[in-house]
Amino acid sequence: MSIKILLDESEIPRQWYNLAADLPTPMQPPLGPDGNPLTPESLSAIFPMNLIEQEVSTERWIDIPEEVLNILYRWRPSPLRRAVFLEKALGTPAKIFYKDESVSPAGSHKPNTAVPQAWYNKQFGTKTLTTETGAGQWGCALSFASSLIGLTCKVFMVRISFDQKPFRKTMMETWGGKCVASPSQETESGRRFLKENPDTPGSLGIAISEAVEAAASDKSGSTKYSLGSVLNHVMLHQTIIGLEAKKQLAKAGIKKPDIVIGCAGGGSNFAGIAFPFINDKINGEQIEIIPVEPTSCPTLTKGIFTYDFGDTAGLTPLLPMHTLGHNFVPEPIHAGGLRYHGMSPLVSQAVVEGLCAPRAIPQTECYNAAIQWARTEGIVVAPESSHAVAATIQEALKAKEEGKEKVILMNLSGHGHMDLLGYSKFLNGELSDHTLEQEKIDRTEHELDTLPKAQVNKSGKW
Ligand SMILES: *Cc1c(COP(=O)(O)O)cnc(C)c1O
Repeated sequence: MSIKILLDESEIPRQWYNLAADLPTPMQPPLGPDGNPLTPESLSAIFPMNLIEQEVSTERWIDIPEEVLNILYRWRPSPLRRAVFLEKALGTPAKIFYKDESVSPAGSHKPNTAVPQAWYNKQFGTKTLTTETGAGQWGCALSFASSLIGLTCKVFMVRISFDQKPFRKTMMETWGGKCVASPSQETESGRRFLKENPDTPGSLGIAISEAVEAAASDKSGSTKYSLGSVLNHVMLHQTIIGLEAKKQLAKAGIKKPDIVIGCAGGGSNFAGIAFPFINDKINGEQIEIIPVEPTSCPTLTKGIFTYDFGDTAGLTPLLPMHTLGHNFVPEPIHAGGLRYHGMSPLVSQAVVEGLCAPRAIPQTECYNAAIQWARTEGIVVAPESSHAVAATIQEALKAKEEGKEKVILMNLSGHGHMDLLGYSKFLNGELSDHTLEQEKIDRTEHELDTLPKAQVNKSGKW
């Protein structure tokens, strides 16, 4: 039995999978500030039309351009590994497989969408991309892709992570990106947030406001905004992970996984591994599909499914999603990439349908899992990925209790080599758990009362 299952470059998937084609109830459209559905034209102030077409597409399969594949070959297909050493340590009869997305140049799954986004922008005539970054993974991925494709990249990095992870900025600059801490003095929204709260740790919602403003205020149209998660076209690009995993499981003689697990911040690495299997589930397979989030930012498990802004200043369209409210500033936990108030509308709709069952786990359990993983499998995972590892261990132990030989498939979204401050604090016993108070969630509900309500549409099949 091989412990790494590899695909040849010639076996790479040549199309992305679009879940919007198969959800039993149609997606509700994004809305403008007036509460009316947005037209593709109105999105064109910040996105190029070729990506807007993907955003609204309901085609099941979308071709991956040859030039994009030529860049992805640098690290794709990524390995599928069997976690035999963890299995042994846990004494579980479960077979644990994981997709290793830490092998990309930026160290995470994010280049899977950064490369096509930069490529489509280049085709469209964009010169500069603006974006936000939480832990710094996305800013690195987009800086990397922009440098290969020939675009300028400007990154607004959430203040707390900017301070915790100074080398991320250096990494972005090495790839030619420009990085400032957010909130910054460079945008109107940034200056306003700083005035209200000079010591704010920042949030992804605030950084998105700044990046959107920076793109929209270039009236020449040559600056566009790029988002690393949440949107439909981002989920689409990430499905290459799950499509590869399917081929690799087949090579290992596995017909289907029983359980699929990914951590969820904005939903993209989870969607990447899970959507091709959600397709199987829609077609009758029995698969448990689990997005995992922190208890301090429990968007899917405690948030409200309704229309909300993707950013704090309210500059983005209103999206139908699970949300903790666009004003929510999560505790400064170390899994920066999971500190987001909203969620991908496609992931949210899959949860509403009952096609996946979200779970929240506190950060110390996640760090314990990450340490056990490092001491068995060897990889020091990103704090975000440790949430998937913790859920995998929970499921492997459950399989042991039940005496069942389940197949678990997990997405290892990235390595933690730039995130060692969190590990260091954990190892020194300085980290504690946060659970979001009900009072804050009630306040959110109240705040969101002024915005349009999303309908809870479900077929009742799951
Ligand atoms: C950004 C990031 C995440 C969270 O983002 P998603 O869109 O939910 O995938 C998770 N893991 C890593 C390593 C990240 O860089």
